[in-house]
This record gives sequence, structure tokens and C-alpha cells, in this order.
Amino acid sequence: MQGGSESTRLTEALGPLHPTRDELDLQAYEARLARPVRVKAAELQRDGRLRHLIFAGQLSPALLDDLAETADQVRVLSKSRAGQDFLRDLLAHRRAMLYFTQPSTRTFLSFTAACQILGITCNEVRDPSTSSEAKGETRFDSIRMFSSYFDLIIMRSPVARLAESCAYLMNDLARSAQRSVPIVNAGSGADEHPTQALLDVYTLQRTFKFENPADSPVSRLDELRGRYGHADLSTGLAHKTYGFCGDIGRGRTVRSLAMLLADYPGVRLVFVTPDHPALRMRDDLRQRLAERGVPVLEVDSFEAPVDGVPAIEAIDALYMTRVQREHDTPADQESLARLDLSPYKLTRDLVARMKAYAPILHPFPRDQHFGEIPAEIDSDPRAMYFRQARNGMWVRAALLAHLLDADGAIERYFHREFREHHIYSS
Ligand code: ASP
Repeated sequence: MQGGSESTRLTEALGPLHPTRDELDLQAYEARLARPVRVKAAELQRDGRLRHLIFAGQLSPALLDDLAETADQVRVLSKSRAGQDFLRDLLAHRRAMLYFTQPSTRTFLSFTAACQILGITCNEVRDPSTSSEAKGETRFDSIRMFSSYFDLIIMRSPVARLAESCAYLMNDLARSAQRSVPIVNAGSGADEHPTQALLDVYTLQRTFKFENPADSPVSRLDELRGRYGHADLSTGLAHKTYGFCGDIGRGRTVRSLAMLLADYPGVRLVFVTPDHPALRMRDDLRQRLAERGVPVLEVDSFEAPVDGVPAIEAIDALYMTRVQREHDTPADQESLARLDLSPYKLTRDLVARMKAYAPILHPFPRDQHFGEIPAEIDSDPRAMYFRQARNGMWVRAALLAHLLDADGAIERYFHREFREHHIYSS
């Protein structure tokens, strides 16, 4: 997002439809978008809490722990009728707009379900040809209109930094004492998908507690340390080697998750991808990871050595991705057609060589035509991707509760009413 990818310049990405008004607005945003992450993150907060969630760099390990705790409380409360009633009452006075102008299944539905859990009424615009954008309205006018009717805007757009610009628009409105609402980035171009990274981390947090058989391929840490010989294995996300496979260059979920993982001590990132300009890691991400001082290995095969063993045997968690064909240029199509991409698909044999406790994640959708994860792997205890998608609903509910200042009420109720009946096995 903060980097210099050609497709990220808003003025280019928005196209010639409304040049005068959009471009005038955007000239101001370009300068603000170019500021260091630290400075921008501060502007996206209010009173030490998130005001908008736009990029992964806003999510510190401490905040990720807080959100995971709220998500755990929401999922436990949701088990009982009394807990459900409490949650549904909590934000029943709030309304959310889901403005999704790019295809989405899981993100859209899990945000909808998260709103329903908390009693938030939601409405949607998914096809701009059915809104006033078809009559020439700018996206910024649309957003401002949504903010007139709703208390929160969750947006997905093919334009890389539109959500970030909309957050600045909202801040400017607030400064002039006008109506302003939080913006959540639910996927921006090939750039960032911070709430996917949030649910990926939540899934890893639960997996690496080694507590619950539903969350961990092997849920007994003592067994892992003893019988399986992983003497140094620790709980938590730190001191682990994370593998990413597939379309690293254009996978926005990879970009967001890699930045979050880089904040944990002792983490190492292994990227398994063909040496192709569209698929390999982009320079801006490489540079940002280098600035964090996180060791990064870029290899073109699961057989490449990591610590003297093949990568597939060395990793503690594997994040698979599909090839993002929708971003192909004609030249990419031609050169990718000549490339052998079969080494970037999982097979039963590869999975059998992974560590017994290593979860396999995928942001989904998986591509049935390419087959990066064949269905035969779904029954392996390491296959965590369906669980991961469900985790998205809980942690997105936690995020909404945080943004609308309801997380404190959830915590108080949870401790008062439910602590005694704590069940984590949902
Ligand atoms: N669903 C994810 C996204 O929106 C991953 C993907 O589409 O490949 O980025």
C-alpha cells in the first residue's frame, strides 16, 4: 500500500470517468498517502483506539491479542441464548454499509454475519451500475452519502488506496464538525486486505495454543515436544517459520499477513513462488520486510533447502494462495501459460512431509481449475482453511465491536456472566 507499485496511483486507477472532480480530490490524497506508515497510522486512530482499519501496519501484536480475546468472548457468548440476546442488543442502534464493488463471498458474508451477531443492521451496494455512480457520481460523493445514512462503512474496491483516501475524507469532515464514520478496508486492489490478515493471525493464535483439537492438528504440546521431537516448540506466533506459496506478487492477503507476522520475534518468512515478474514478491514488500529486520527466503520450490532440510519439512505453518488471474496483463497470460506451475500445488505426498502440527491456511477461494489445494487434502488434520474462514466471522465481530466501542461491554458481561462456563471448543 505504501509502496510504489504502478497500479497504486489513484489518479490512474480511477480512470477518465470523472476526471475533474475526482482528480482534484485525489491530488490532495496522493501527498497524504505517500507519508510514512507510522504517521498515517496515527491519523487513523482516535483516543488510542482504531478509528478506521485501512492497512495491516495498524495492527500491533498487543492489539491483535485484544481483538482475539474479544473474538473468543463473542464465540463463547454465542453458544447460549442469553449470550446471543446480549450481543444482539449491544449495537442494535447502529447501521453498517457494505460497499463491495469487487467480487467477494467470505469477506462479505462474514462481515454480514458479524453485524448480525452484534445486532448491527446492514445494507449493501455491490454493483455500482445500480447506484448513482452510473449517473456520474464520484466514489467520494457516494461514500459521503453512505456516511449520512450509516454508522460504519466496510468497503472493497479494485482501486488500491481508495479506502485509505476515504478515511482521510472522513477525518477532514470530522475536523470541520461534520458527520464522519469509521471506514474498514475489506480488500483494496492488489494492495492490502487487513481483515483477512487479522483472521489469519487469529487462526494461527488458536492453532499455536495447542489446546483445542478443532484448532490444532496436534493439540498436545507435551506430546509434540516429546513423541514428535519438537523440543523447542513454543506456544504463540513468535519463533516460527511461515511458508507462503503461490502468487506472492499480487496476493494482497500475503502482503498484509507478512507485515503482521514480521512484528513477532524470531519469525522467519519463506516465499515459495516462481521467478516470474507478476508472481514473485514486489520490491516494496521486500523493502518493508527488510526494514523490519525479518529474515526472508525467496525460493522457487518446496524442495529448496531451509536449515538444511527441504522447505516443506521446515515450515511451521503454510499459507497457500491461488494465482490471481484477474490481474494478468496479456503479456502475463502469455508468459504464465509457458511456465510450469505444478510445483506450486499441494499434493498428499507434500502434506505428508509437513510437520505434524503445521496448519495449512488459504484465504480462499481456491481455484478448482488450477487446484493449488486438491480436495483430497481437506480431510488432513492440518487443513485449517474452513476453520480459518469461520474464525473470520468471530474476529470481524470483535473488530466491529472495537470500532464502535462495544468491546468493553462484551468483556464486562463475559466476566460477569460467563466466565464460569468457559468453553473454547466451538
Ligand atoms: N479472498 C482473498 C482476497 O479477496 C484472496 C483471493 O481472492 O485470492 O484477496
